[in-house]
Amino acid sequence: MKILIVGGVAGGASAAARARRLSEDAQIVLFERGPDVSFANCGLPYYVGGEIAEREKLLVTTPERLRSRFKLDVRTRSSVEAIDRTAKKIRVRDLASERQYEETYDKLILAPGAAPLRPPIPGIDTPGIFTLRNLQDVDRIKQRVDQGVKHVVVVGAGFIGLELAENFVRRGIATTVVELQDQVLPPFDKEMTTPIAETLLANGVTVLLGQSADGFEESPDGIVVRLKSGQRLSAQLVILGVGVRPENKLAVDAGLEVGPRGGIRVNEHLQTSDPDIFAVGDAIEVKDVVSGDQTQVPLAGPANRQGRIAADNVFGRAVRYRGTQGTAIVGVFDQTAAMTGASEKALRRANRPFRKVYVHPTHHAGYYPGAEAMTLKLLFDSTTGRVLGAQAVGRAGVDKRIDVLAVAIQAEMTVFDLEEMELAYAPQYGSAKDPINMAGFVAGGLLRGDHPQVHVEALSAAPAPEQDFLLDVRTPQEFESGHIPGAVNIPVDGLRSRLGELPRDRKIAAYCQVGQRGYLATRILLQSGFSAANIGGGYKTYKLFQPSA
Ligand code: FAD
Repeated sequence: MKILIVGGVAGGASAAARARRLSEDAQIVLFERGPDVSFANCGLPYYVGGEIAEREKLLVTTPERLRSRFKLDVRTRSSVEAIDRTAKKIRVRDLASERQYEETYDKLILAPGAAPLRPPIPGIDTPGIFTLRNLQDVDRIKQRVDQGVKHVVVVGAGFIGLELAENFVRRGIATTVVELQDQVLPPFDKEMTTPIAETLLANGVTVLLGQSADGFEESPDGIVVRLKSGQRLSAQLVILGVGVRPENKLAVDAGLEVGPRGGIRVNEHLQTSDPDIFAVGDAIEVKDVVSGDQTQVPLAGPANRQGRIAADNVFGRAVRYRGTQGTAIVGVFDQTAAMTGASEKALRRANRPFRKVYVHPTHHAGYYPGAEAMTLKLLFDSTTGRVLGAQAVGRAGVDKRIDVLAVAIQAEMTVFDLEEMELAYAPQYGSAKDPINMAGFVAGGLLRGDHPQVHVEALSAAPAPEQDFLLDVRTPQEFESGHIPGAVNIPVDGLRSRLGELPRDRKIAAYCQVGQRGYLATRILLQSGFSAANIGGGYKTYKLFQPSA
């Protein structure tokens, strides 16, 4: 069996190593256009900032090691230019010598990844405007930074943009982030990004939301970035982090099927429309685990696992790729944001009936030193309670909760399963009622009708005469330090004796700081004959919808 693999990083190198483990006899040739294979793309921003000090650490493995350990024929600086499907051969250009040659295959695996977008904005080729994908890019960026840069403009507040922004700040560089949407980290729901935007501001990053770059000019001081608003930003370095597009040219030229957004079409065995050609990683379309729709998710985990699965299928093991759920995490200064499955906005776009809850637990027992608050948002099917998505933000413990919920989504669990989950607990690690259980309790209570909730967005959406009576059940001190406009303060401990002060002809929306006392107040009110609901996640959730940025 002769297997050719195009692309030598996440998906391609995984496929090659797996193929070798499955067959000592196969001839396996790995073609990589760049000089490196299997490098740590995800570590690149931290090399710019100096957190990863040595460049060699970014090389997960070397061509030599792949040759000696896996008996792979690794050909770097080798660009695969065309596929002849009828003759089952490819044309390769050796970039060092410019020599072109052909290589035949029994099976071909495409793992060419995705290229950063460079939108056709006037002046886009002005020197000093960079994208970040590989070691050569990071070398160029780092060299520029090392030469001395006073101001960087990062266009795009996605994962890579924000990771780089943090690392520029670490290098003492004034940093501005420009984002077209009205929030940072566009895959997340907007309110969940409020703490991220706030930490960017607290760390001196200028964040310009709802703005786009519509021109670049060379200037004596470097580059001028013209924004659509008319604002002009002066910088010595500009980073474009506005997304990626699948590297599909080989596939398109060879007549393989691609989806509407350019991702190479594959079946569940990662086979393209040609059964002898497989494709993996950022270049392909995948099934969204939650919606079942075709989508594109450029993440390292899926690419690595797909590489393995493609190799399995090449050798006749009928392993299926289950789909991608977009489990992702990003650290921005002292905050971590993570998500898995569908976002609220994706569910709304799909018109899928869902409910949501917010909880704000501490990451381990509150009485144990160092407990950090987090916000966890859970999205679930409004009838069955099946978990559809989750997002979390906080200083600690966010990764663990999103990972548990990622498993719950893959296992098609419901919020009732979350109530029952038995998770590791000692005070320095978690709580006897873990945040996962808490989210399950709140969601389960909502679906069982024990715990009616009203959401912050619904409060302001209702016309004035129909608005709920707002009841703040926190202490007077908490109330004084900030409350929802129009709220009346009756602390929960005195509520039973002050029910006469409350209207019986209006719905009462009760709230506390995080939802717990509001829940108790709601139970008291409901059992006393009032129409009442708890404002989900309390004042803390309300504040997420009122970003200071
Ligand atoms: P790649 O890893 O991009 O590899 C494709 C390779 O194919 C490239 O090296 C390219 O040169 C080569 N190639 C393309 N065409 C040809 C051709 N015709 N001939 C020969 N070679 C070719 N994901 C996460 O999950 N978490 C993170 O924290 C994270 N951080 C990231 C940070 C950065 C700065 C970047 C750039 C990406 C990050 N990612 C992260 C995304 C992750 O790196 C990608 O999803 C993953 O590398 C995709 O793997 P792949 O094999 O599909 O493509």
